[in-house]
Amino acid sequence: MSVTLDLSRVTPAVDAPKPLINLSGLTRPQMVAALTESGVVEHGKAKMRATQIFRWVHHRGITDFAQMSDVAKETRARLAEHFTIARPEVVERQVSKDGTRKWLIRMAPGIEVETVYIPSVGRVGALCVSSQVGCTLNCSFCHTGTQALVRNLTAAEIVAQVQIAKDDLGEWPSDKEDRLLSNIVFMGMGEPLYNLGQVADAIEIISDNEGITISRRRITVSTSGVVPQLEALGEKTQAMLAISLHATNDALRDQLVPLNKKYPLDQLMAGIRAYPGLSNARRVTFEYVMLKGVNDSPDEARALVKLIKGIPAKVNLIPFNPWPGTDYQCSDWAAIEAFAAILNKAGYSSPIRTPRGRDILAACGQLKSESEKVRASAMRKLSMAAMAGVLDDDEDEAAA
Ligand code: SAH
Ligand code: SF4
Repeated sequence: MSVTLDLSRVTPAVDAPKPLINLSGLTRPQMVAALTESGVVEHGKAKMRATQIFRWVHHRGITDFAQMSDVAKETRARLAEHFTIARPEVVERQVSKDGTRKWLIRMAPGIEVETVYIPSVGRVGALCVSSQVGCTLNCSFCHTGTQALVRNLTAAEIVAQVQIAKDDLGEWPSDKEDRLLSNIVFMGMGEPLYNLGQVADAIEIISDNEGITISRRRITVSTSGVVPQLEALGEKTQAMLAISLHATNDALRDQLVPLNKKYPLDQLMAGIRAYPGLSNARRVTFEYVMLKGVNDSPDEARALVKLIKGIPAKVNLIPFNPWPGTDYQCSDWAAIEAFAAILNKAGYSSPIRTPRGRDILAACGQLKSESEKVRASAMRKLSMAAMAGVLDDDEDEAAA
């Protein structure tokens, strides 16, 4: 018996509405292209229009096209048909006794990241932004590495963290005097070099002189040592480099930062020496987490001096921030001071990072969506869809 299908009766699938593009995540040249492609702005006027819109979004901080008073009403309506400039939702906001602020931001259902503002760091204050939800790298002392769900953030989602901090700190317009937010550090959740494309776009947007205007020299990208991406980072972003070193020999670093098995110390040090633009005025920061009885002996301080010899560098000693379930402990204060003294004597500036925002679990390496447990099953369902949609080529590397 044969069956004939009458295809003429099949109802055509209804086209899903095209998602709105968030203009906050486009560099100015990308915005020119997007405006032209959408047909909202004619080619000859796109550059001028893009700068005008860019200024509204990143200089004035507006979140609604209706506020663009010098753009014709009809154009504003057409912009809103194709684009958005809305912020993601702030799910939770905490302020520490010492002025540290932490925001839990929901980028999409089940996709939450944390962003922390730390006063008195850099010229005035630094914002610690996340580049991924979670992290694939599993450094043994890091809380973020224990989070199951991982996806790259888009440039719009990275820029949104800065915009939300500026909303809360009252930092609009961006040329306001006495700004509290002077520096950006990519030291929140995730490995920025596994999401370099979006991180580089975000840096271009944040540093653009028509917008937020935070100079590239005040933007630091911290990496656990993705050696093949170091050169591209320097060339694309001209950002300051920070390396999460934490150990001076491969055996120990393999345990602390498992990525070391892939890119061991000799390769890492060679990559750092070749970082574009490295000089005494643009030194690399070596981050070194102080773990009691693990990496904090005077011998290790001397080994560190030897390892970084000849590199324009400073060393940032980070007291370990404990989190529930970790076996590590923070080094005793005397051990940290003795370690710092050896570095100082060898001519390296080695500030000890003061613990900040401890009362709100806001320190580096402690960032992890606390809502994770409750939503674990929902997140599992979402993770595949989210990863399929957002992961780019860099993530292939992360998953390898
Ligand atoms: N993934 C990147 C950037 C985010 S982590 C990186 O690893 O460099 C930012 C810094 O916090 C890194 O130096 C990291 O090693 C450190 N860190 C992670 N967990 C920590 C903890 N529990 N206590 C102190 N520092 C920690
Ligand atoms: Fe990832 Fe950095 Fe944490 Fe390592 S220290 S797990 S690279 S966020």
